[in-house]
Amino acid sequence: MSICEVLLSNPDKLFPVFDAAMVESQSVLMINHRLKNVMNVKKHIHARIMSLPVCPELTRTTLPRTADVDSFLSITGTVIRTTVMKMLEYEKDYICAKCRSIFTVEVLTLN
Ligand SMILES: [Zn+2]
Repeated sequence: MSICEVLLSNPDKLFPVFDAAMVESQSVLMINHRLKNVMNVKKHIHARIMSLPVCPELTRTTLPRTADVDSFLSITGTVIRTTVMKMLEYEKDYICAKCRSIFTVEVLTLN
């Protein structure tokens, strides 16, 4: 199975591998770099794939539909409106008004 087939069928499994490879690459490149003393390995980085083949299975010019959930797609368009950035909430801590105990609720259970 080629890397392209794995990327298209299981992008959620392959992207963490790409991210880890890029972090490892930074370490390897720094070993003999003349500025290694002032360089840092950036661990919070993400791979981005560009120039996917132009075919109907991979590209969209309109918003993806529910049938596209879990599909790896290339979306082309123009941004016509933006809003203020909103934090992605992963979990929330709540405090009980009676006993003051704190409990954490993950977003997946909120929706
Ligand atoms: Zn309570």
